Formats: sequence, C-alpha cells, structure tokens
Amino acid sequence: SPSPDLHAVVREIAEEMRARPDRGEVATYIPELARVDANAFGLVVIDADGTVAAGGDADVAFSIQSISKVFTLTLALGMVGDRLWRRVGREPSGSPFNSIVQLERERGIPRNPFINAGAIAVTDVILSGHQPREALGEILRFMQFLAEDPTIAIDEAVAASELRTGFRNVALANYMKSFGVLDNPVDFTLGVYFHHCAIAMTCRQLARAGRFLAHSGRTPSTGHSVVSAERARRINAVMLTCGHYDGSGEFAYRVGLPGKSGVGGGILAVAPGRASIAVWSPGLDASGNSHLGRIALEALTRRLGWSIFGV
Ligand code: GLN
Repeated sequence: SPSPDLHAVVREIAEEMRARPDRGEVATYIPELARVDANAFGLVVIDADGTVAAGGDADVAFSIQSISKVFTLTLALGMVGDRLWRRVGREPSGSPFNSIVQLERERGIPRNPFINAGAIAVTDVILSGHQPREALGEILRFMQFLAEDPTIAIDEAVAASELRTGFRNVALANYMKSFGVLDNPVDFTLGVYFHHCAIAMTCRQLARAGRFLAHSGRTPSTGHSVVSAERARRINAVMLTCGHYDGSGEFAYRVGLPGKSGVGGGILAVAPGRASIAVWSPGLDASGNSHLGRIALEALTRRLGWSIFGV
C-alpha cells in the first residue's frame, strides 16, 4: 500500500538536497554536459498504485547517458535471450566505467552490460540484422513505449559531441572487435551506442520507463507485460551488483536498491514490488555517479524503509 506521506517525503528530500553546498562535479568531457546547472535537482517516485510523487526539477530533461544501458540490455535479452551472456558477463567490475584492463584478461568479453565495453557489446547484438538507423529507432521507440511518451528524443548535439570525443569508447570497441566479440562494423555499433547515450529524459519520464522492473516485468497502470518476472528479477540483480561501476558496493550499502547511474547525473532505482524512482543531480562523485542523487536515495529508502536488505 502507498506510504501515506510519500509526497511529503519526496518534497522534503528535494528541499534538503537543494540546500546542500556539496554538489559534486559536473561532467566536463563534452560541452553540453559541462554547461548543465549544478544546482538542478529532481526526484520522482511512482508507486505500485501509480501514485506519482515529484519534487524539484522533475520535468527538466537531462542526458540519460549510461542509464540507457538498462533498456538496451532489456531489448537485447528480448532478441537473443540468455545467449547474450556468451558476449558479456554479469560480474561487478570494480573498475571505472570506461576501463579497458579487464578486457585483455577475459578475451574481449566485458565483465557486465553496464560498463561501457559491455554496453557496446549489447548494442552490437541489437544492431545485428538492422541498419543503424533502425536499431536506434527501436531503442528510442522502446523508451517512448515504456514511458508512454512519444516526445522522448535524442539530443543530437550531445550525440555529435560523444562521437567527436569518444576515443576511449572507440578503443574499447576495436579491442573487443579484435577478439571477435563484435559482429558489426565498429563505427556502426558506436554510432548507435553514442546516440542511445544521448537520449534526453525527465525524471518523470524515466521513473515511468522503469516501472516494469519494480513490478515483476509488468507496467501496472497499462497492464503491459514487458518481460517475464524472472527476467525483471535478473536485470535488477545486475543493476544492484554492477549499476554504479566501482561504486556499486557503496550504493548497495547506503541505498540498498538496484540502481543504474549515468554521467549526466541521473539514477534510475527500483524498489521491487514498491516503486520506480528517478533522481537527477548533475554533480558527480569520484566514480562518476550522481553525488546528491545517491544521498537523496539513501534518505528516501531510510525514511520509507525500502532497502531490499531490511528496514
Ligand atoms: N556516453 C558516456 C560514455 O560512453 C556514458 C558513460 C556514463 O554515463 N558513465 O563515456
């Protein structure tokens, strides 16, 4: 049942976060992210009844970046099922999101689908048998369908900047290609990857898109069955163990929910059976995860008793 004071808790947390002086550092690797207002903060919680509690900049679009990796994983599993795990592992990396070192030891197989190398391998699977434009359209339409919002779009300026500066991702892709882990031309796969990272969404849209993960694969308000309960549970497990790169242990320790972060400062978190949660604060910590986003989620789960590990 919905917590009676969910709206109050969300509003309180948004106010508390806005008042804090510690905001982390906004990503600066592309001008579009460097320009974002470090004082922005948004939080949206959608519970099992469809109640939407929103605070702060809930309707300001931001670059979802690596949060898109949850949805590309979902799509790729839908296309090839568990065969996907031949291409990508599901162990935490303990390394930064763009690290290359483990690829050498593991014959080009990335540790998990939520670091850059793993997400590039997943994108390559989605691309197979399609033109890049079709594959990208499929990803975007999936986001629009889940969020029930056809206005969700790619920020083309962000995509262009990613392409222009993404040398590390080019290296990761070529390195995997040398082991035969990618099937498509590297520039096609990277083009789709950079564009899905450049999808812009609001906290409200993102929380809507995440509902199926909180409710055994189904979106309660529409009745749409997106994935099986087993698949939703497994995606949540990978989010818990790998969703915050080398900060995944700390996120589980402090927040206690499956979550996926992006370098744009967003986090999608899942309270199984309870709620889908999106938070956005552009300042990052040393692992590239939203600093206040994590602190806000920690406050939320503590106040509502929502950690999966107990109250
Ligand atoms: N587009 C970014 C990159 O590939 C995504 C990384 C992230 O959000 N951590 O570097």
